[in-house]
Amino acid sequence: MDNILNYSLEELSNWMKENKESAFRSKQVFSWIYKGVWKFEDMKNLPKTTIEKLNNSFSIEKPKIVHKYESKLDKTTKFLFAFNDGNIIESVVMKYKHGNSICISTQVGCRMGCKFCASTLEGRIRNLTAGEMLAEVLLAQETIGERISNIVLMGSGEPLDNFDNVTKFIELVNADYGLNIGQRHITLSTCGLVPKIYELADKGYSITLAISLHASNDKRRREIMPIAKKYSIDEILKACDYYIEKTKRRITFEYSLVSGINDSVEDAIELSQLLKGRLCHVNLIPVNEIKENTLRRPSKKTIEEFERTLNKYKIEVTVRREMGSDIDAACGQLRRKYLEGRD
Ligand code: SAH
Repeated sequence: MDNILNYSLEELSNWMKENKESAFRSKQVFSWIYKGVWKFEDMKNLPKTTIEKLNNSFSIEKPKIVHKYESKLDKTTKFLFAFNDGNIIESVVMKYKHGNSICISTQVGCRMGCKFCASTLEGRIRNLTAGEMLAEVLLAQETIGERISNIVLMGSGEPLDNFDNVTKFIELVNADYGLNIGQRHITLSTCGLVPKIYELADKGYSITLAISLHASNDKRRREIMPIAKKYSIDEILKACDYYIEKTKRRITFEYSLVSGINDSVEDAIELSQLLKGRLCHVNLIPVNEIKENTLRRPSKKTIEEFERTLNKYKIEVTVRREMGSDIDAACGQLRRKYLEGRD
């Protein structure tokens, strides 16, 4: 059956018309769905006949919460969700003073193969649909009992490798009949699929683009990110410039610091020279260590020195604050642990 969460208002209105229902019923249905109602029977203002037709054509696919972990150190909550086909993904809710933010998965697994990442170890199993991504947000919101006002597409998966579903999801959460989350409150992170960055820029959204750079030259980048064999840093930066020109949005460059690999002062200088003069900002992420590899995070001193060097060259930089470190709230670790049966 068709998952109604994949539908836009326009699509559902068309369905209503084709099924001899008034188009305004679609608005009513969505107002319930986006309030977190998961059964057509519970939509109080719908006639019985409409409910029956909806039930004959649609499901409202609600994932199961396999586990919910709450950090004792901060207010981070991590969810393991299972879809009907048994696939498991993770999402993380972080509470900040300015509101609640959710980090969602866009694929089951990932095929990008970045060396440091736990989500990619078994490749990509499948894409998530727009409705499945939406369900991550709806269910998380329902569970914490508070509105989620920010979305980062930074969980498992490569969002631009699932372009059509991801852009539809962005439109659904942004819509006023949907979750009404402003595009400026949405961040999409990519390892740099260049043609798709252009396509995204042409969509005309005002979402924040984050690029997983992680190295200041192609040779080093190729050692840790297979995608670097396909697209050079130069090509990525050209696509970023196009994105900035189109959207006037500041780009974030993510840089995971790995001891002895990309954390020297020379690396920081090279990175500064690459990014000089761009509307951008660097987010340093001390690598989250996973047991499947030997990559380790640099010392605090090395991290601070890297940050200082970027500052010296007038590059805006922040070091990502670690949240939920007691619940493996990072980068696909929880799902793996669960799949390995260690939980
Ligand atoms: N595929 C997308 C989004 C998912 S990963 C991308 O590559 O951007 C989100 C961010 O976490 C990326 O910057 C990714 O490189 C980073 N990341 C993945 N595993 C990590 C780890 N073990 N430690 C630090 N950062 C990691």
